[in-house]
Amino acid sequence: MDSLHFDTKTVHTSANKPKSVSKITPIYQTSAFAFKDLDDLEDYFRGKNDYLYTRMNNPNNNDFAERVAALEGAPAAVVTSSGISAILVGVLAAVKNGDHIVACEDLYGGTYQLLAHELTEFGIDTSFVDFSDPEAIRKAIQPNTKLLYSESVTNPLLRVENIAELTAIAKEHSLLTMIDNTFATPYVLQPYSSGVDLIVHSATKYINGHGDVTAGVVAGGEELIAKAKAKMIHLGCNLGPFDAWLASRGIKTLGLRMQRHLENAQALADSLRGLEGVKKVYYPEFVSERGNGAIVTIELAENSIVEQFFKSLSWVKIVPSLAGVETTVSYPLGTSHRSVPPKTLEKLGINQNVVRISVGIEEKRDICALFKNAVKESLRK
Ligand SMILES: *Cc1c(COP(=O)(O)O)cnc(C)c1O
Repeated sequence: MDSLHFDTKTVHTSANKPKSVSKITPIYQTSAFAFKDLDDLEDYFRGKNDYLYTRMNNPNNNDFAERVAALEGAPAAVVTSSGISAILVGVLAAVKNGDHIVACEDLYGGTYQLLAHELTEFGIDTSFVDFSDPEAIRKAIQPNTKLLYSESVTNPLLRVENIAELTAIAKEHSLLTMIDNTFATPYVLQPYSSGVDLIVHSATKYINGHGDVTAGVVAGGEELIAKAKAKMIHLGCNLGPFDAWLASRGIKTLGLRMQRHLENAQALADSLRGLEGVKKVYYPEFVSERGNGAIVTIELAENSIVEQFFKSLSWVKIVPSLAGVETTVSYPLGTSHRSVPPKTLEKLGINQNVVRISVGIEEKRDICALFKNAVKESLRK
């Protein structure tokens, strides 16, 4: 190296041969991997080397995928650049041009957009029906239906999917099932153990949990995940290594965070029920032994108090996302559900008085006091 000139040294000087093993998986912030010789390169294609090019695979992405697969109790997982791209590659692992999907009508707005407006352009049609009615699901199934798609706990009104019923219907008709498990998290529900084929997450939410990453993941059986992974690679939906590293760090505290989230959310739901100014509290009664989720959605009594309610939230911020360690609120009608047709919104009850609260891990007495006070203040003005 000593004989090289300045500009060559700046590029090639490196001590990239550590003898010690790092306690934490290091960040492989690299777009590609290097090979000793052509035989070493060929070894990649023989399956003896793990990595070639980061869009295809990277140790950080693998690390994160394995963690999610383990927590979901699924054999395999693939991580992607966002929750939506995870849904995209998961769906494309299950259906192709000419196929049909039956999905619940109370979907996350972005998922609705993908299924109703984007995939239709590629010849994949979706019928949206009321999944609380098994007969409605059966009726919507067509000869070319391949997939039933739902969310374990829906956004923002927190309907809890009857997964056993859904997988039974799928079996009757030889269909695949896919569940968005973002709101429940594997801490609360593990749909793979109930026979769901594909489990998808916006890891942007609880899986990472700190609001500093956009990422997604699909978990399932080896064969379907291999297909989803091929889609991820070919459509370029890969996650960046640093984001995967952050998400792997975030997921380590999933259990601890969820315990506190669940306890706090239950306390908040209880404290808001029956309060003057609050018409309705949406909070599920039984999701699993571990708890009922960390989102509490409320419908305020009248539209005239909504603006003041949002102004009275003190240390709670208005954020069009959820699942961070800090408590935040969002306004579904104005953000996540903008693309859902007004008729569907009205039928579901997502109106201009609906506020979604993502309950954080702060002290529950402070959270309950803040919201009670915000409702009280909104009534006074
Ligand atoms: C946020 C969210 C998504 C989309 O995830 P992104 O990471 O924003 O792409 C999908 N499903 C649910 C339930 C979500 O809350």
